[in-house]
Amino acid sequence: MQTLLAGYRKFRSEVWRPDPQRFAELAKGQQPQTLVISCSDSRVSPTTIFSAQPGELFVVRNVASIVPPYETYAGHHGVSAAIAFAVVNLKVARIVVLGHEHCGGVAAARATGTITTPFVSQWVSLLEPAIHACGHGSDHIAVEQESVRLSVQRLLTFPFIVERMEKDGLQLIGAHFKISDGTLSVLDLPTQEFKQVAD
Ligand SMILES: [Zn+2]
Repeated sequence: MQTLLAGYRKFRSEVWRPDPQRFAELAKGQQPQTLVISCSDSRVSPTTIFSAQPGELFVVRNVASIVPPYETYAGHHGVSAAIAFAVVNLKVARIVVLGHEHCGGVAAARATGTITTPFVSQWVSLLEPAIHACGHGSDHIAVEQESVRLSVQRLLTFPFIVERMEKDGLQLIGAHFKISDGTLSVLDLPTQEFKQVAD
């Protein structure tokens, strides 16, 4: 806890104190332009990777950065609710699905039947089509990247997303972050290949 409080005090002195007006403005409401769907992994922070300020990114994090399919049965659709709020209410201009290297969630999806952590197997089973598409023995990064492609495709099953794409040019973006060297690759939609972003 001491580490967290020291971090909080650093935030107060270095972020809040120099610009309290910014927070007073943010208190009136948020207008983020980007929805990021990222992994819960502590090593992959979208705000750090994109050097974003408070109010800029609307972030949904879950195990393995998964976009579930559009489902209409009455359930607790937490990820879909966040996507809907960002797209319908906040009217974000783009959605970024951010996968990453050494993703334990993707590894869990590949280790079917051996994961005993509550809820995890069921959740990551949503990646089955990506694992299937890559085939057995594929490189782990290839499966992580295929999982991003799958999640981007799944965004297209949400009618309100397609509607905003057609009406307002809402952009869908896939990305993959390499923890080991801090590089980001972005999915090129026409070729479906990931291309590393230049420094
Ligand atoms: Zn992960």
